[in-house]
Amino acid sequence: MKALETLRSYVPATRRQAYVAIGVFVAYFVVAKFGLYLYFTFNTSPALIWPPVGVALAAMVFYGYRMWVPILLAQFFVTLLQSPNASMLLLFVIAAGFALQAVVGLYVMRVFKFEPRFDTLTNALVIVFVALVVTAIEPSIATGYQFFSGTLNVTPLLNWTRAWGAGIFSVLVFTTLIISWFPWQKFNYSLNEKLEIIFSFSALTALIYLLFWTKFSVHFGIAVIFFLPAVLIWLALRLNVRWLTLAVLWTSILGVTGSIITTETVKLSAQLLANEVYIALVSAMVLIFVSIVGERRTAFEGMKDALNATIQADKNKTEFIAVLAHELRNPLAPIVSSLELLKLQPQTREAVLTINSAQEHTTMIRRLLDDLLDTARLSQNKFKLQKETISLRKIVDQCVGNVSEFYRKRNHALTVTLPKEEIILNADPVRFKQIIINLLNNAGKYTKSGGKIELVAGVEENVLTICVSDNGIGIERDMLNNIFEPFKQAEQMSKQGAGLGIGLFLTKSLVEMHGGKIFALSEGLGKGSVFRIFIPLIPQENQVLQVQKRETAFKSGPASRILIVDDNEPAASALSKLLEYHGHTIQTAFSGTDALSKVSIFKPQFILLDLGMPDMDGFEVASKLKEQGWNGTLVALTGYGQETDRAKTKEAGFQHHLVKPVRTDDILSVIVGD
Ligand code: ADP
Repeated sequence: MKALETLRSYVPATRRQAYVAIGVFVAYFVVAKFGLYLYFTFNTSPALIWPPVGVALAAMVFYGYRMWVPILLAQFFVTLLQSPNASMLLLFVIAAGFALQAVVGLYVMRVFKFEPRFDTLTNALVIVFVALVVTAIEPSIATGYQFFSGTLNVTPLLNWTRAWGAGIFSVLVFTTLIISWFPWQKFNYSLNEKLEIIFSFSALTALIYLLFWTKFSVHFGIAVIFFLPAVLIWLALRLNVRWLTLAVLWTSILGVTGSIITTETVKLSAQLLANEVYIALVSAMVLIFVSIVGERRTAFEGMKDALNATIQADKNKTEFIAVLAHELRNPLAPIVSSLELLKLQPQTREAVLTINSAQEHTTMIRRLLDDLLDTARLSQNKFKLQKETISLRKIVDQCVGNVSEFYRKRNHALTVTLPKEEIILNADPVRFKQIIINLLNNAGKYTKSGGKIELVAGVEENVLTICVSDNGIGIERDMLNNIFEPFKQAEQMSKQGAGLGIGLFLTKSLVEMHGGKIFALSEGLGKGSVFRIFIPLIPQENQVLQVQKRETAFKSGPASRILIVDDNEPAASALSKLLEYHGHTIQTAFSGTDALSKVSIFKPQFILLDLGMPDMDGFEVASKLKEQGWNGTLVALTGYGQETDRAKTKEAGFQHHLVKPVRTDDILSVIVGD
């Protein structure tokens, strides 16, 4: 039973397999007849064009070992019809030789895991190997038999060689052609590609014509023959292997016809043999070349895919960081306000220390979240500056104020040297402060207690230089080269949990966004560090005036009525207590509807309005307030601080835009400023 099953797998057993076998039989028979026609009509001996070898191998590749049956039968009948008087045994030996050759061909291909495509070097080498080696099987069997049976009418070597040559040619031209065009696959070619196909085939035809049809195979001392592989390679690289195999077939047909028509009969056979060998060699060479390129291309495509996947993953991660940092700010808001409030009430000494420490930590978390968010925005290209004319002195003063508490604790001495004249620059004040504060903070952080830190600013030829130097731990040469890369920290720093390692990356990005440059210098570990910034100044008239106007705008004001609207109740309550402490009258509302109803009775001068609320968002509340005719100062409280967000609130009628977690100082400056 098992033996029967095994046998069935080696012969066409189903109806479909039978149809396929008949198809292969017919195809083999027709091309063999054609080969014989060429051979006998034009008396091409010893050259032989024998397409059935290629057809047989292709049939094996696509339909398996079963195809030995139609191959053997077709070959047998073709020779029987050609030489009815020949011995049956001889005909059978020849037919069996061809069938065996095809079977061995498929076996070799399967051993080397050949796949019917020419996009890897292995595939191309396997087919060339089969073409060169396996095609020697049938010539050896047939010549051997004829020699020993005394039926050979030419020398054994000649008989063997012409059959072998025919086999090589046949596999390289016909098997490759069938493999690349079958099974049929539709390709959509663009107009350019179509034109390129027409152009390449025209060039090829012209070359073949010169080469095989005329006596002008040498032009200006250059053999035309050299150009043929070039055109074929061009075709294969620009289009695909299909066009290459078709071009090789075209070359064969035109070449053979040309030789038959133009060559004298005496020399024809030699000429044909030469053509056959030449075309087979060129075909093998180009096939190997093309498969190497194909392999590279596949590898490159793979790399491109991997790269795209990495870029996408990176984008997702950045998006995640941005969302995370933003979401973490919300719970931080009530903590910041509550701590400020606690500090304003009478406390024991220990409680004050604890509150201070908690405040320090929340400030640090806030800074880290801000840095993270900024880094994410930078990599998403969402970062935009809001430039205005600002005074350097004022900015530096604020920065010094910002770090003074930290410096005091670490016992650092900070000296600031600024030019006597007022320096006005066109910069984003928040971001510009961030640059200087980052450098001052780092100098303070990476210098042992009691250190000396200096900030020196100067202007030369319209370029502002700010130099922050310290006598701290210094920076190693290796580290200096890439200190501005994100997440780059000196080894000992990362262990101590100094920060995230994105501060300098942000600083550099911000400096560059201001059109400037930043450099880090250090003579080595323990020798202090210097960070130098260069910012080009744009000369502008009346800047001084604007600045003066802005500066005089800040003055202390009377107590105000303020309505705080936020669905985050702890945040609203904490803020309300804080502002009450500063002498203002406060009411809170935890929803838009609540706020609208309170406005008409409470008549606030200021409304601090959270934008994201479940029942009615801040924009809707703002427009309803306008409808009600309320005309006080509207302040947006939101986690979103981008330029586009600010533009949106401005358009909706908000006079101010504060980003959470908001510090009391920020709110007070808004209220007092107005
Ligand atoms: P972070 O301070 O959060 O680690 P930064 O990007 O601000 O991140 O700094 C990166 C690294 O550069 C620090 O970890 C530290 O090793 C080094 N560095 C920065 N400023 C100084 C400085 N003034 N002196 C010595 N090392 C510094």
